[in-house]
Amino acid sequence: MLSTTTLSSVLHSINDMQPPFIERDLNVYIDRIWQTYFSDIQPVNEVRIGYCYPWKTRLGVIRMTVDESLSFIGINSLLQMAKVPECVLVTTIAHELVHYVHGFGSPRPRICQHPHANGVVDNELEKRSLGKQLSHCNDWIDREWYPFYDNQRDAGWVSWLSARYSSRRGRGSC
Ligand SMILES: [Zn+2]
Repeated sequence: MLSTTTLSSVLHSINDMQPPFIERDLNVYIDRIWQTYFSDIQPVNEVRIGYCYPWKTRLGVIRMTVDESLSFIGINSLLQMAKVPECVLVTTIAHELVHYVHGFGSPRPRICQHPHANGVVDNELEKRSLGKQLSHCNDWIDREWYPFYDNQRDAGWVSWLSARYSSRRGRGSC
């Protein structure tokens, strides 16, 4: 049983802790990634990006409104934590942009039936000079993601992020 003294000191230490996040402004990232790696692609509707729920098994998502006027890219909010290498965030945003280019979560024509058919996403990332970032990202995810996730959950950050991001549902947000 957790004594109240222990419990209050745990709560105290969480409240005292500076959230271990670093400034990762998604709009800055997506602009930079689009200009650097996707400059041949003109957006055909409005594209917004935002942090979402701290999923255990998903890094990002893209979806489009029924009237096709808006595509929304949602990013796992754990990716703003300092312990996550930047290449994971960059690769996740670029992955969702590839879906956009391929006509998934976007009004562009679909290039195939399934968004991940025959490794089309990874092939496109490599074609766009993002192969190195992709492989660093995959290495880190394979090695670190689940232990990292468990640590954040045990430290209380998963529920903190869930409360912060799950209530913001609606057009152009999670
Ligand atoms: Zn995907």
